[in-house]
Amino acid sequence: MGAIYYGTRTFSKHMGYFGPKQECENCHRTYKKAIVKFSSWFHIDYIPLIPTKTVYFKSCPVCGKGFELRKQDAKVEMANPGEGTQTLEPHAKHIMANKPKGILKDDNSYELWLKDAESGEDILLGKDITKGDINNIKKERGWKKVPMEKVE
Ligand SMILES: [Zn+2]
Repeated sequence: MGAIYYGTRTFSKHMGYFGPKQECENCHRTYKKAIVKFSSWFHIDYIPLIPTKTVYFKSCPVCGKGFELRKQDAKVEMANPGEGTQTLEPHAKHIMANKPKGILKDDNSYELWLKDAESGEDILLGKDITKGDINNIKKERGWKKVPMEKVE
């Protein structure tokens, strides 16, 4: 008999961009805000069984500054997609991807970028960060995937 693992797991999902384009008070970029849904589930052996908590977060799609929304408020926000399209595509770069192993204790030669598909601008979100940092931000933002480019 193996051990049975149980507890809660949280999943995040990027719901889209909503409302009017507004300047962010933190990074001063003008975009519609992102809404991310976080659902916690009780699991046994990593099979989600019972939903335990759902939280929504409304934030700047560039710097991530934002706040929690109640479910009913999130529904109201998501009923208003705002004008125009907004397509922001995250991607990462692994700088010095071919360096000899062991040079860096923690490999912090990664960069995270957000490409604005409408304007063509590529926005640097973070540099000198680790793969773990990228995974944390990915979960925070509810992104499905972050394509990685190797830079030699
Ligand atoms: Zn911002």
